[in-house]
Amino acid sequence: MPSALTESGSESEPAGDPRRRIPRTDDLLALPELVAARDRLSGTVLHGLVSESQDRARRGVLSPDEVQAEVLAAVAARTATTLHPVLNATGVVVHTNLGRAPLSAAAVEALVASSGYVDVEMDLSTGQRSKRGAGARAALLAACPAEVPGGLDALVVNNGAAALVLATTALVGTGELIVSRGELVEIGAGFRLPDLITSTGARLREVGTTNRTHRADYAGALGLETAGLLKVHPSNFRVDGFTSAVPIDQLRSLADEHGLPLIVDVGSGLFTADPALPEEPDLTSALEAGADVVIASGDKLLGGPQAGILLGRAAVIQRLARHPLARAVRADKLTLAALEATLDGGPTPVSRALHADPERLRERAERLGAAVGAPVVAHEGRVGGGGAPGVPLAGWAVRLPAELAPLLRTGRTAVLPRVHDGACLVDLRCIPEPDDGRLADAIRAAQARRGTHPDTPVPDGGH
Ligand SMILES: *Cc1c(COP(=O)(O)O)cnc(C)c1O
Repeated sequence: MPSALTESGSESEPAGDPRRRIPRTDDLLALPELVAARDRLSGTVLHGLVSESQDRARRGVLSPDEVQAEVLAAVAARTATTLHPVLNATGVVVHTNLGRAPLSAAAVEALVASSGYVDVEMDLSTGQRSKRGAGARAALLAACPAEVPGGLDALVVNNGAAALVLATTALVGTGELIVSRGELVEIGAGFRLPDLITSTGARLREVGTTNRTHRADYAGALGLETAGLLKVHPSNFRVDGFTSAVPIDQLRSLADEHGLPLIVDVGSGLFTADPALPEEPDLTSALEAGADVVIASGDKLLGGPQAGILLGRAAVIQRLARHPLARAVRADKLTLAALEATLDGGPTPVSRALHADPERLRERAERLGAAVGAPVVAHEGRVGGGGAPGVPLAGWAVRLPAELAPLLRTGRTAVLPRVHDGACLVDLRCIPEPDDGRLADAIRAAQARRGTHPDTPVPDGGH
């Protein structure tokens, strides 16, 4: 019974199963590097990295002698979040899959400053409790010059969808909400505004057609059950040609005739009109045209953290703030701090990318192209999930072979290029200029990996 002898760990074992030489869990966890990493990583994570290497040795993928080195390398490389910073080389400014808006330096500083104990709901001069998020509220009001009867007020919730749910629940209840068929938007990942609205118990009364809706359509649908009017900006698509929609001021007059609230979801969060995006509605104009409350996202064109912004007539906003649901969708201190700093700080990365000088983009692309030995081609960026569908942003890209795309994504500095027409396009619009050198290094590293493993099938996944 040689196997029984081996199992009991006899002296003659060295010739036997090499798996017995796999370092023990306790010994690995006691290595000074792993002890030092306990400040940075949880016991569960360290344990997981140890077992992963031990498993690979058990399966024969790794020699037992290599386990310790692999564990040390894995621990050194592991950060407490598995989210990887990405250089966005797609030319798409508000990229939903990359977390929408990158934050401004001021917002990042505010996040760090507010990460500990912070006076989010406390007046330090009196020691008394104060209104939560007063700074963000003041910054929103200062950013919006609209004059409305009774004055403006503002409220911040978790995201645009939560803002719409809160406004509908508090103002419409189980009544009917009238909305144009041309504005029943799917906002992404299969989520549809009509489903979101009806999930609150409100009933949707759709009027008009996909391409044309008139004032008379709204007027004809008004009845005893009507509890509000809703206008949604179709921020991610465009209907061209024979179209017509009812402007906010006309909806205002209908709402006034019947004593109804008018909710306007502008989507993207421009505070005032931007000449670069002529068709994008802004909060100020929507309020001045007569909206009782406007809704926008914090992380689209505004360039801030994920947040739902509600601005409107003071009495309406106060009604929303007092509704029990407001507590369920309330923004945290980090969001409030970053939003305030987005509004009161310097230009956001979104704004810089949208208004990037095409000539400067060309110079940077040419410098990068020369550094990596690749041609520069004209390339149009886009605003992206944030709004302004169909608005091209003229710019330039460095054209690389398509096979480089997965190597760029999985390199030490992750780069997301655009793969289009059999090419891998690297657009500098959304890359902060100080990162140009790092981007060139990442491309050269990808070129080198491709050069050394020409026949290796390239992994398709991310990290
Ligand atoms: C993006 C968008 C939403 C959803 O906002 P989130 O902040 O993503 O929850 C709602 N309405 C419109 C018109 C939008 O564009």
